[in-house]
Amino acid sequence: MLMEALCLDILNSTWRGYRGGEREQDRLLTPGWDEQLMKRWGIQALSPLEPEAREVLQTLRSAMSHVIEAIEKGTDPAEQDLETINTALALMPSTPFLAREENQYVLSYHPLQVDWRWFVREVAFSFTQLLIQHDPLRLKRCQNPACGWSFYDESRHKNRQWCNQTCATLMRVRRFRLHHRSLSSEQFTP
Ligand SMILES: [Zn+2]
Repeated sequence: MLMEALCLDILNSTWRGYRGGEREQDRLLTPGWDEQLMKRWGIQALSPLEPEAREVLQTLRSAMSHVIEAIEKGTDPAEQDLETINTALALMPSTPFLAREENQYVLSYHPLQVDWRWFVREVAFSFTQLLIQHDPLRLKRCQNPACGWSFYDESRHKNRQWCNQTCATLMRVRRFRLHHRSLSSEQFTP
């Protein structure tokens, strides 16, 4: 099972196919995708999203992706990227609200107003939660160069390299072929 998070859905909203060579599609610009996403995460916002909201989400998506890149490199994130995330978090003020759900206490947040800014805030908040409540070192990008999707590695040894089984199989087959080719070229080298 892969960990699911709203921020991961936004991070993985560009699609280049698994094999590379395909034109990149931006699902943030695909009509209806945003509405499906909000429905999936139970977020009420004005939909479809305004062009302004899509632009803000694209900027937030880049900033979150840069942070994951910094984690992979073991460096500090750029100030500018943290600023983008903080701006998104502050887009819509909210009030903390204590509730009891299914025998446990939960803290949720009620927005001052429900519109696209709340949705953007929820995306940034979801990323923040992954960073602070989970292990940031498990946030990775798929090693298939044609893919690059982000995922949260829940494997026991933190050694997962691929976003899903399709990428894993594809890359294993490629590695096998490459290995096989280098073996056979060794064989025929005089
Ligand atoms: Zn992948």
